[in-house]
Amino acid sequence: MAERVSVDVAVVGLGFTGLYAVHRALRDGMTVLGIDAGKEVGGTWYWNRYPGARCDVESVDYSYSFDPELERSWRWSENYSAQPEILAYLQHVADRYELRPHLRLEQRVQTLRREDGVWRLATDDGLEVEARWVVLATGGLSIPHVPDIPGLADFEGQVVLTADWPEEGVDFAGKRVGVFGTGASALQSVPIIARDAAEVTVFQRTANYSIPVRLVSYTEEDLARQREEYAERRRISWSSNAGTPHGALPGDPLTMAPDERDAAFEERWQTGGVLFAKTFATQNADRAVNELARQFVEAKIRGIVKDPVVADDLVPVGYPIGAKRICSDSGYYGVFNHDHVHLVNLRREPVEQVEAHAVRTIDRAFDVDILVFATGFDAMTGALAHLDVVGPRGDTAAELWKDGPFTYLGVAIPGLPNLFTLNGAHTPSVLANMALSAEQQVDFALDLVAFCREQGWTEAEPRPDAARLWTDHVNEVGLSTFMGQTDSWYTGANIAGKPRTVLPYAGGFKTYIDKCQLVKDNGYEGFVLTRDALAATGGDR
Ligand code: NAP
Repeated sequence: MAERVSVDVAVVGLGFTGLYAVHRALRDGMTVLGIDAGKEVGGTWYWNRYPGARCDVESVDYSYSFDPELERSWRWSENYSAQPEILAYLQHVADRYELRPHLRLEQRVQTLRREDGVWRLATDDGLEVEARWVVLATGGLSIPHVPDIPGLADFEGQVVLTADWPEEGVDFAGKRVGVFGTGASALQSVPIIARDAAEVTVFQRTANYSIPVRLVSYTEEDLARQREEYAERRRISWSSNAGTPHGALPGDPLTMAPDERDAAFEERWQTGGVLFAKTFATQNADRAVNELARQFVEAKIRGIVKDPVVADDLVPVGYPIGAKRICSDSGYYGVFNHDHVHLVNLRREPVEQVEAHAVRTIDRAFDVDILVFATGFDAMTGALAHLDVVGPRGDTAAELWKDGPFTYLGVAIPGLPNLFTLNGAHTPSVLANMALSAEQQVDFALDLVAFCREQGWTEAEPRPDAARLWTDHVNEVGLSTFMGQTDSWYTGANIAGKPRTVLPYAGGFKTYIDKCQLVKDNGYEGFVLTRDALAATGGDR
């Protein structure tokens, strides 16, 4: 028998964004239910349990800022925390703010219908939720993509996805492992898989740029200093382009002495990780500067990898460095110096099919016991596309977004009133610090809800013309960047048949925050605020 719950706000997805949305709604005195398909909270950090998974933004920054006490009390053990520690942090947040009584786990929301002024949500397990407001915090990278390789269904070994890693782990000892994909997930996991496996074969279609991450275990002194510096660090992050306190190094690389320029690149290489993308301010806009950065990394790859043919294949070609998010790894390039780790360049040697115990390319067969798919996601629009959403006038999410996302500020969609899509398409999110972005998104949406409640409005829906302007702006800004001009999940190019568009907002974190603030200051311009008939007669739900 179906279980029915009625709340002010339903929050779908309990990662960084959803957990904060539940907390904020409770703080505002509303009733709220947070729902997630996972057995635990954590979102991305629950599902992506693959070995080597860790954040690529420093943990002190990749964490909530809404409560200085939380910042002070939580102790990160490393600069770039591994998945178990980030998951433990999010579990701690759920406990510390007493969110758990308001959460339902292992419930996958399937349908959302706006009827009689409320959203009705139904899950696969018979839970029905009625809510005036809905927050979709379903994640930009939550729908895994597995390529349709002929014969895959007949493979008799184990198949695992980095994006849905078995909770019990995977025993690679003595096994022959095939890995598909060479994005961030693969680059983090391959060196660890290679520690135990008898053979590892990486099937690479497109090489990626990766900068080794320099892991630091924090001492008591480090933690004390962080506590001192936290407020300033956050202040800079909130007014930055990417939600972190780090900027570019000074100087124009095109006019400075080559050894000075290389010293700057070396400094960022030694710092490690994605920060290399910001060595110089013009690196992501000026082809000549980008080429200098690219050449520096190419030389590093060639310096690490001993076999020149393998090194050739590992050097990315055909797109600027940083046009796809730079990966951060721990020993990825060097792992190919081991005799039991092989690279197969699928551009030269495409896969024909998977057999019962092997992967066959056009040239040869590779015997494998375990296949790992690190093949990405139906990014940023996938989660909404997988939900059956129907608005009050019969608009469906599928129809509204058939040509790509159509949003106002990324957070709202004409035709779907009182529904917020947070930290997803048309927001800075994946180009910024997801933790701070989560807070900004939730605060914008729930400030609007609070405003409506104060003013007696019961519905908020963006105007189509406002959404048109925002969508065009996102595309225009995006297409002017290397990211927007490059095939990747940022542009929908990784999923066959997906409309080619620019998914995240590339205008910068601070610019976006300012735009949202302006909309708020102008009484939520671009939104139509109304009062439904029942509320107008004093009825309540
Ligand atoms: P991804 O970057 O989309 O990489 C997917 C990989 O699978 C690509 O190398 C892709 O090749 C390959 N692939 C897809 N279909 C294939 C096929 N049929 N045959 C062979 N290869 C195929 O996915 P991801 O590595 O999971 O990373 C996604 C995003 O998640 C990252 O960009 C990052 O934002 C985030 N992430 C962050 C971290 C972190 O460090 N914090 C870790 C993991 C993920 P093509 O390029 O040729 O399509």
